[in-house]
Amino acid sequence: MTFELADRVQTVPPSGIRRFFEIAEERDDVISLGVGEPDFATPWAARDAAIASLEQGKTSYTANRGKRELREAIADYVADRFELGYGPDEEIIVTAGASEAVDLAFRAFVDPGDTVAIAQPSYISYEPGVIFAGGEVLSVPTKQEDDFRLTVDALEDAGADEADMLVLCYPNNPTGAIMTEADLEPIADFAREHDLMVLSDEIYAELTYDGNEHTSIASLEGMRERTIVFNGFSKAHAMTGLRLGYALGPAEAIGAMNKIHQYTMLSAPTTAQHAALEALESCDNDVREMVNQYDRRRQFVLSRFREIGMDVFEAKGAFYCFPEVPEGFTAEEFAEGVLREEGVAVVPGDVFGEGGEGHLRISYATGLEDLRKALARIEAFVGDHA
Ligand code: PMP
Repeated sequence: MTFELADRVQTVPPSGIRRFFEIAEERDDVISLGVGEPDFATPWAARDAAIASLEQGKTSYTANRGKRELREAIADYVADRFELGYGPDEEIIVTAGASEAVDLAFRAFVDPGDTVAIAQPSYISYEPGVIFAGGEVLSVPTKQEDDFRLTVDALEDAGADEADMLVLCYPNNPTGAIMTEADLEPIADFAREHDLMVLSDEIYAELTYDGNEHTSIASLEGMRERTIVFNGFSKAHAMTGLRLGYALGPAEAIGAMNKIHQYTMLSAPTTAQHAALEALESCDNDVREMVNQYDRRRQFVLSRFREIGMDVFEAKGAFYCFPEVPEGFTAEEFAEGVLREEGVAVVPGDVFGEGGEGHLRISYATGLEDLRKALARIEAFVGDHA
């Protein structure tokens, strides 16, 4: 028999990155600047807490919304770091990665035919998430000349005043752009004026550089009641494989997300919740050390691209930079060429949506030694094709 795939599933194209993985497998000397995950292992204290929880046989489900103690720790953490006030009982839900939280939000708030504006280039999961929920995507491209910050002009040009929801991601994957409080104020005004709900993916909030501190859009006046914030442990705490994230929002909204979560997930992984609690309680120094290392790598990578003669804007967050490909190449041609000829895997910017054309996403969540080699190979590739 043939399977009758649901239209929603058929509509979503396969991930544009997969072809590159196949090429990468043909060589055994590939240096990957393609992946969006830390090269560090989870801090030891958090690993130890996970191990201890297993030794003590703590292997059952937790409360649907996550261990109460963890929700309390999250409430304290976001209050302390981002001036966000969320109660542990009704305004926080712990999920299997921020990915689950994003999916829950689309399913809880998007009706068929609703329009979801997405600031792009953006993380690859939002668009399929909207489509799986039956919604329509409205792309709002950001520009290099604005340092890839979202502006009200971009929202107006895209017609986002007519949308039902706006999705933001700062610090941004794939560009590394941040948004300061001054950048966010007019976006918040726009959301209030046009009655947009805001989904704000702040999973890279800890990873900001050059003295920039992350501001959550939910901390701006009148935004808490219309915003869901996503965060998690994958990036700052190097816990991708433990699958733990969370969402913050008003009780009614988190309750709606929990309604789906309790039937589809029951609770986030218990062992990971023990690790996460410890991560919040005792791993600030580990996070600081990783952020320092990312910053050193960021400065190295940015300066090398400039030496090579590739235009790159000054990314100030996450662990990505987003250089322009030299003339004569599309992003896809450059990415395929540098992989086949030099064995360096990078991701063409187009896969992240409008505004990403002509750029490459370079992840510097890779040791300096490999970054040095990879940049030398990119330089050789550019030299060969000058
Ligand atoms: N949001 C963004 C912007 C990301 O880059 C990622 C991971 N690549 C996620 C969410 C998903 O994170 P998690 O591992 O918590 O599901």
